[in-house]
Amino acid sequence: MRNLNSDRREFFRALAGGAAGLSLSWPLFGQAPATPIQATKLTEKLVLFSGDGGNIAVLIGEDGLFMVDGGFAERSGELLNSISSLDSHPVRLLFNTHWHMDHVGANVALGKAGVKIMANENVKKWLSRKVTMEAFNRTVDPLPAEGLPTVPFTKGGSLMFGKNIVQYTHVDPAHTDSDAFLFFTGHNVIHSGDLFFNGFYPVIDYSTGGWIGGMVAGAEAMLKVGDAKTRIVPGHGPLASKDDLKATRDMLDAVYQRLDPLYKQGRTVDEAIAAAPTKDFDDKWGKGMMAPAVFARVAYTSIQRHYAAV
Ligand SMILES: [Zn+2]
Repeated sequence: MRNLNSDRREFFRALAGGAAGLSLSWPLFGQAPATPIQATKLTEKLVLFSGDGGNIAVLIGEDGLFMVDGGFAERSGELLNSISSLDSHPVRLLFNTHWHMDHVGANVALGKAGVKIMANENVKKWLSRKVTMEAFNRTVDPLPAEGLPTVPFTKGGSLMFGKNIVQYTHVDPAHTDSDAFLFFTGHNVIHSGDLFFNGFYPVIDYSTGGWIGGMVAGAEAMLKVGDAKTRIVPGHGPLASKDDLKATRDMLDAVYQRLDPLYKQGRTVDEAIAAAPTKDFDDKWGKGMMAPAVFARVAYTSIQRHYAAV
């Protein structure tokens, strides 16, 4: 049997010091040492669970729960316990905002129990195979079949859960090529998945289609949803406002607008980093999971990969 704790340590060691020279802050990833799972009520029937990988939202319906993302696999028992201590109804539907392991950790436990798992079709594609995330020098094994999404979608739509209308939208490749965000209309809350890291440079997984231009477009798509008072559960970081999302969009767009001409001039990654494309943003955004030089490297590589693929 695999030692999951050891796997987790290795994953974060790889994240912290992988081939790309990454420097990540572990507590911001909610890991090592494990931070407690905390529940925050956003409305009477919508709850944010933080502290276990990506942020998790749980919508409480009349006879069951709708869960968005599921943290890390090794903490899924702890997560599901804290959810059931808040509301004893069973989880009826699980939604994956994208394929990354810090968001799909409850898939196997809930899938085995017969819970439907909904996700963009590319989530199943990546979870069904071995994937190497080059930026992190990390290979992720496929999930067992019980954990794979059972309700795939392409573009998005809306669903009724109890009396709640939930809109879900797949965007063009951004953080990965499998991202979707959700809008809980009656609660005026968006769950962005990793289309939005609140307060620090985002991870961009160019090995599975992510690129910085798509991150800008993804932020713009979410800015059009709801109104000025809409609150946003980001993939990582604290609960956010539209102003927080706009600030992130503007930072990402500025970095993209600086890197794109360098790409068109044929500059290497090292030349792009030497141009210090994030310099004036680093004080505010560079103290989180992605150190400035790492973010610049990942962002520039993502542009190279994107243009090579189209
Ligand atoms: Zn992610």
